[in-house]
Amino acid sequence: MTDTLAPVRQAADGEPVDVARTTAAVVGGGPAGMVLALLLARAGVEVTLLEAHGDFDRQFRGDSLHPSVLEIMDQLGLADRLHRLPHTRVPSIPIDTPEGPLVPVDLRVLRTPFPYIMLVHQARFLEFLAEEAARYPTFRLVRSANVRRLVVEGGVVRGARWRGPGGWHEVRAAVTIAADGRNSKVRALAGLEPVGREVPMDTLWFRLPRRPGDPPRSWGRLAGGRFLGFLQREDHWQVTASIVKGSYPHVRAEGLAAFRSRLAATVPEFADRLLALEDWSELSLLSVRADRLPRWHRPGLLLIGDAAHAMSPAAGVGINVAIQDAVVAANVLAAPLRARQRRGGEVPESLLAAVQRRREVPVRIIQAVQRLAERPIAAAMAGRPAVPPLARRVVRAPGVRGVLARFLGLGVWRVPVRT
Ligand SMILES: Cc1cc2nc3c(=O)[nH]c(=O)nc-3n(C[C@H](O)[C@H](O)[C@H](O)COP(=O)(O)OP(=O)(O)OC[C@H]3O[C@@H](n4cnc5c(N)ncnc54)[C@H](O)[C@@H]3O)c2cc1C
Repeated sequence: MTDTLAPVRQAADGEPVDVARTTAAVVGGGPAGMVLALLLARAGVEVTLLEAHGDFDRQFRGDSLHPSVLEIMDQLGLADRLHRLPHTRVPSIPIDTPEGPLVPVDLRVLRTPFPYIMLVHQARFLEFLAEEAARYPTFRLVRSANVRRLVVEGGVVRGARWRGPGGWHEVRAAVTIAADGRNSKVRALAGLEPVGREVPMDTLWFRLPRRPGDPPRSWGRLAGGRFLGFLQREDHWQVTASIVKGSYPHVRAEGLAAFRSRLAATVPEFADRLLALEDWSELSLLSVRADRLPRWHRPGLLLIGDAAHAMSPAAGVGINVAIQDAVVAANVLAAPLRARQRRGGEVPESLLAAVQRRREVPVRIIQAVQRLAERPIAAAMAGRPAVPPLARRVVRAPGVRGVLARFLGLGVWRVPVRT
């Protein structure tokens, strides 16, 4: 191994108050970390999941589970119970454009028992997975564990440290897996830099009231130089609005009334309920990024999910790609980790590299498809025709629609659970 990591810096206030041992330390209890921890625990691997927050409730995180994830849940025998959680279903993604309606993605063409996107509150989904994982004695979840240091010895990551009640705590592991999201602290501690591309937009997320008898509506509308997406939730509309990259301070400076009236120009039928937006605190900004690490691993350390590759929100695939990473990581690592649990020893970095090898191509392809999906929005924001006639013909071609449904619904290829 040519790369080495700097030795861990000692906390100014001293040594950890306790040192726990486990086989796999997973940092971050989002979709990737939670599914990985569940799969490893289920395979008999001792796993400690460190989650910075005390609960899973965050405003506006991805809530869309695509057929790929529903099939994975089915393989785990969890699909029926998952479907008992409050949810809505989206079988296709129709968009109103200035040039007419378009349905770029229709999941009903897929051969799958779940030809739809399931919209379920991410916090509920994560609690559901945590409850399931807690059935296995090898699973340990530590909440309010905000990891701030890596334990590094001889250039190998041996675990992580967090500051919590009573001081610093440490967990030592045969492998540490970072699933701590797009602003990954572990990635920074390991000195890994993502490479990315400039995405021309940011998005604002907010809720609008949903009234009894509201007719189903298009998933999105491109008009007036902006894109508005509408996710039908149990009791509200979850709305996303595109704004020009970096323009949020300017949008805020113009005032909420001006913002509301611009949105109303795009969706006049919602003009009255836009008045429900009374304060900027009701809106969440997602600074859109699309990047990936050239290398997802260091000795003793693997990164997956958004920590390895932040996805653009186009087509809502972020959770699904992250969970597929988790399944591949578990498939590759479970048996070797079980062996090390018995006999000790390190996990060779070649195994960590194998996870990247299996996932990098699908991630890059999906990011390329997302880039295409962003084009009409970027064109509309720049005042150009959003979907010119040639693009419209291409998207409507049956072969293209099938490929889009396949890539976005199931991933570039299916990822079966093999643990
Ligand atoms: C506003 C918004 C809307 C989105 N909409 C969609 C959508 O509709 N569909 C979709 O598929 N995707 C969507 N995404 C993207 C999606 O949420 C992510 O792609 C997905 O959650 C990635 O999963 P992950 O497990 O890799 O990371 P995350 O979900 O980001 O989870 C990371 C976890 O790590 C924890 N953590 C962070 N730092 C530390 C630390 N130092 N120590 C311990 N724990 C830590 C965090 O608290 C978090 O729980 C959206 C994202 C945002 C922000």
